[in-house]
Amino acid sequence: MQPCQPEQERKSLPSTLEALRQLFFYLTPTRCVVCRQLARRHISLCHKCESGLKINTDACESCARPLEKKYSGICGECQKSPPYYDSTLAPLLYKDTAKTLIIELKFREKLLNAKILAEIFAKFVKNDPCPDLLIPIPLHTSRLRERGYNQSLEIAREIAAIHKIPVDWKSCERRINTARQSELPIKQRRSNIKGAFQNHRRLDGLHIAIIDDVMTSGNTVNELSRVLKKSGARRIDVWVMTRA
Ligand SMILES: [Zn+2]
Ligand SMILES: [Zn+2]
Repeated sequence: MQPCQPEQERKSLPSTLEALRQLFFYLTPTRCVVCRQLARRHISLCHKCESGLKINTDACESCARPLEKKYSGICGECQKSPPYYDSTLAPLLYKDTAKTLIIELKFREKLLNAKILAEIFAKFVKNDPCPDLLIPIPLHTSRLRERGYNQSLEIAREIAAIHKIPVDWKSCERRINTARQSELPIKQRRSNIKGAFQNHRRLDGLHIAIIDDVMTSGNTVNELSRVLKKSGARRIDVWVMTRA
């Protein structure tokens, strides 16, 4: 099986070319995508905004819900009703810099943020067997028309390029234009999303990673996981950039 870490090494350039490349970088400073101050080139964020990325360190092993330090392993919620997905990787907390990156990606068309989030995410992907396929959470066509793009697909495309995994954004659709999960009380979120997705392709034996920008109650990814497992998926990992 193909391991899942991105290629770390850039092919070394001949020294003159490398010197020119360094000079070009020196002469064209990058601006932080959040605050427009001078940025650190490897991440397109300034030092202050980079330190505003809060890592989701103490998290449930199943749903990545942030846990208090004294608890570890699987959270009470996952023990009570185990989710359909097999694991969640959500390296950042939905706070500060990460929250700004997501909000501006979603509502201000800052598509470059998808690349930045995917590059940060890649640093946390373990060198385990790579998923066979990425499936971004689909948007309903009316919301897609309103926004013009699906932010989860934008992130999935960037992750696909880094890890060399195909993306399928056509086989699964959101057939019900559900109320926004974030606008509903927690108790209504599960029933709101039930039956929202339809998948038109068999996924027998495949290891899938569902891609999303932010995970809050987890009901949306769980409902999609239910549908994908019904289509034969063998394993489902949730790869979500941030956890609320
Ligand atoms: Zn900044
Ligand atoms: Zn959990």
